[in-house]
Amino acid sequence: MRYVSTRATDHTTRAFSDILLEGLAPDGGLYLPVEYPRVDAGTLARWRDVLLDDGYAGLAFEVCSLFIDDIPAEDLLGICRRAYAPEKFLDPQIVPVSELSDGVRLAHLSNGPSAAFKDMAMQLLGELFAHELARRGERLTILGATSGDTGSAAEYALLGRPGIRVVMLSPADRMTPFQQAQMYSIDDPGVVNLAVAGVFDDCQDLVKAINADAEFKRDHRIGAVNSINWARLMAQVVYYFAAWLRTGGDGPVSFAVPSGNFGNIAAGHIARLMGLPIRHLVLATNENDVLDEFFRTGVYRPRAAQQTHATSSPSMDISKASNFERFVADLLGRDGARIADLFGRELPETGRLDLSGEDRDRFGFVSGSSTHADRLAEIRATWENDRVLIDPHTADGVHVARRLLASGEVTGPVVVLETALPVKFAETITQATGIVPPRPDRFAGIEDLPRHVTRIPADVDAVRRAIDGAA
Ligand SMILES: *Cc1c(COP(=O)(O)O)cnc(C)c1O
Repeated sequence: MRYVSTRATDHTTRAFSDILLEGLAPDGGLYLPVEYPRVDAGTLARWRDVLLDDGYAGLAFEVCSLFIDDIPAEDLLGICRRAYAPEKFLDPQIVPVSELSDGVRLAHLSNGPSAAFKDMAMQLLGELFAHELARRGERLTILGATSGDTGSAAEYALLGRPGIRVVMLSPADRMTPFQQAQMYSIDDPGVVNLAVAGVFDDCQDLVKAINADAEFKRDHRIGAVNSINWARLMAQVVYYFAAWLRTGGDGPVSFAVPSGNFGNIAAGHIARLMGLPIRHLVLATNENDVLDEFFRTGVYRPRAAQQTHATSSPSMDISKASNFERFVADLLGRDGARIADLFGRELPETGRLDLSGEDRDRFGFVSGSSTHADRLAEIRATWENDRVLIDPHTADGVHVARRLLASGEVTGPVVVLETALPVKFAETITQATGIVPPRPDRFAGIEDLPRHVTRIPADVDAVRRAIDGAA
């Protein structure tokens, strides 16, 4: 499979191994496969057996093989087996599917090392990066910014890997106590935590400033594992297949996806175009409803940082969906010149994109949003009816799914993607139910461990010095 930038105007394509370690394409676009591989009913039937006999790792190998042709099959199989080794996850099925009493299903994506769905992609990315760097004989410093879940998922996935170092910026004192403990308790010379005096956007601006310094970036071999990395989307495609296979039957299923950067649901969009029977992709947002607004009106209107609400589902407090360009590329039939103009000129100049004239209904998206009160009510109802605790992000998906089922906009089996364990957002769970969410043994007492974190001002030279010092 070859890859092409969303903004490409010529026929230049690149191999998987060439785009693996990169973020943006040189023209500012995002990479996509030149075409989505198609999967027929026979393949789905075979994959059902693969999942039963060979587990999630076996299915991951099948799906990834369709997108990767420049890693030897035996290497790729080993990569998938290590990434999805059952002992790393709280459930040997990796992504089990459960059913609530009203028929809504949950696909549990947060059984990995950091207790959030980002692990599903990051575990594979860690293995792929290690494989590619060993092949090249190169080293890499992964520089990133996190508002909570990405940082710990990346650190757990990359820790202890020869040739890879992680420098992660997080906003000082703004993550939940559990999230802080998860990251800062990591005691590994390859993991450098920087707590920035500022908010998440300051962290992201610092990462951007370092990336804009081509010489520093080259000299220090700076790389990224941010949400625009193609391999993350590819890894996420796998669990749509797994969840569909585990839901049983051969008919269409709808997925409800708590969304922020449009990464999780973009993988569902790709699975659907590959031929997985998905009826609706239910996009759910919190009070930061840029994407809900787009699917209702056809106008994409990112908000400024000051207009981004701090909510009880903080990993979705995003007002500029970095993966959205990939969807628009499909919407516009991969018209690279038009994408380049829309995202490279029109959006920066006008702050909005009006795509209301395009036929966006053909991809099965429907959308909705939730308020803090909605999420609390959903957490409470799910606890009272089923004795199941869901986290506030998952509650957002459950809320929108239930509302659209009630109105008839969505029919048939609905699988809500569970994106975090309740323990990560204990305060909100307790507010909703009076219950303190149970803590898996692996996280026992992490708040009491020594902290490995350096406080720095929101200043690019301080980041440079930290990268130098860690070298
Ligand atoms: C990252 C994250 C999301 C949002 O996913 P996107 O891919 O950014 O749309 C939702 N819930 C949780 C818990 C997350 O960590």
